[in-house]
Amino acid sequence: MTTATAIAHYPMVIGGERVDALNGETMDVSNPATNEVYATVPRSGPEDVDRAVEAASKAFPGWARTAASKRTTLMLRFAEKLQEQVESLAEAEAINSGKPVAFAAKPELLHSIEVLVYYAGAATKLTGETVPVSSHSFSYTLREPIGVCGQIIPWNYPLMMAVWKIAPAIAAGNTVVLKPASATPVTALLLAQLALDSGIPPGVVNVITGPGASVGSYLAGHPGIGKVAFTGETATGRTIMKIAADGMKRVTLELGGKSANIVFADANFEDAVNGSLFAIYYNSGQSCEARSRLLIERSIYDRFVASFAEKAQKIRVGNPLDPSTQMGAIISPAQLESIKSYVDLGRQEGAELVTGGGSPDEDALRAGNFLLPTALANAHNRMRVAQEEIFGPVVVMIPFDDEEEAIRLANDSIYGLAGTLWTQNLGRAHRVAQGVQTGLLGVNTPATGTPGLPFGGYKQSGIGRELAFETLKLYTELKGVQINTSTRPVNPWRL
Ligand code: NAD
Repeated sequence: MTTATAIAHYPMVIGGERVDALNGETMDVSNPATNEVYATVPRSGPEDVDRAVEAASKAFPGWARTAASKRTTLMLRFAEKLQEQVESLAEAEAINSGKPVAFAAKPELLHSIEVLVYYAGAATKLTGETVPVSSHSFSYTLREPIGVCGQIIPWNYPLMMAVWKIAPAIAAGNTVVLKPASATPVTALLLAQLALDSGIPPGVVNVITGPGASVGSYLAGHPGIGKVAFTGETATGRTIMKIAADGMKRVTLELGGKSANIVFADANFEDAVNGSLFAIYYNSGQSCEARSRLLIERSIYDRFVASFAEKAQKIRVGNPLDPSTQMGAIISPAQLESIKSYVDLGRQEGAELVTGGGSPDEDALRAGNFLLPTALANAHNRMRVAQEEIFGPVVVMIPFDDEEEAIRLANDSIYGLAGTLWTQNLGRAHRVAQGVQTGLLGVNTPATGTPGLPFGGYKQSGIGRELAFETLKLYTELKGVQINTSTRPVNPWRL
């Protein structure tokens, strides 16, 4: 059992100060691998959101006027600070989220550094245009920052999601108030401190902690913010969009997914099996872009399922802090129960459990939230397990007969976030890539987020894009300026 003295406290970062909630309340933070409380953070209330928005508003004019090249320099320094802290941040992330420490460091922290570097460079490339309106005027557009942006993120990639949100916003000259998920607040708070340490002025990056339903929704509707950027469940995104509508705030939503992974018989079989395992089981399947529907051409279906199930059993599930672990813990007991109930539901719906379904049989893991890589075969696309986001290490395997059916099945979903197709036929790769309604598609790779390449959803997977240059534009207002260059008097009514 953890003793009281071992419990660390992480304050919020508002206006450059490390502060607690004005009401003095705190929330417990647990380690998903043990379910022990090991830290506390402030449980803020609306009055804390007010002061965070006020600090961000105060910092905004100065930051917006800061030369873009200076913002670049500061953000590159911010990236360096992350680089210096990779090991300690990776450990903090692994303890708080249950993900393997090896993956928290690489790819996730290294990717986060790349994202900061990308947007640091992009800050100086955000330009307006001249517009040929008429020979009597000189007209141009300006890209201006929106102001204070409220940013709300989930628990599955706590530090990476914080960087995805903060980097484009501040590169474009905005200031932010970010709220991490209550389960995983630690690394976002550490990140805000690193932003300060790198010379980014106080108030540009503020991080508050507190319950989503009260503090998150209050932030989303706050009159002092101009934009809400949210990542999380589709249902929460819908609520946030409604809240933001009253103030006509700009909205970016990165939501849920049920992405298809399509394997054609002409694919490189081994690559397809290995890539498909990674595509669902990375981060214990707690990824919005997880390829949780595996569509397999019927002629190779049985062989593929057998090989996939055999290899799934070789994935090393275990203590997140063990560098050899490949799959760590599920975020919470409630999430584990929800995932297991989906496995039961799949079997009731007629799918066959071909591997996993239970927790690892190891004493050391019993107190934590662990689940073996799980696969449900002989499924069809109308089953609830094929339509609803399970958000755990569970894949649903569905056979198809031809290219047309594969595209139809892939698109038979309310979601459209990501996808992969495996084929060696070039024409087919392009045809299917164009046919699948999804924001991101990998061909012969379980591609995920890459700085520069847009990440975001079609349909109910969201609105807007992250990681791309376009994302910077989504953090700006577009202004048209027209200058009269004519020598003729201005007298339109001949008065
Ligand atoms: P969630 O929607 O429950 O919570 C996300 C955040 O919203 C948290 O910070 C939470 O405190 C806050 N929140 C909850 N209710 C709120 C409300 N009424 N008003 C304002 N804020 C509120 O999501 P989660 O369970 O933390 O994360 C998992 C979900 O996130 C999955 O659906 C996953 O697909 C999605 N996700 C999407 C992407 C993407 O880029 N599309 C990336 C990661 C995760």
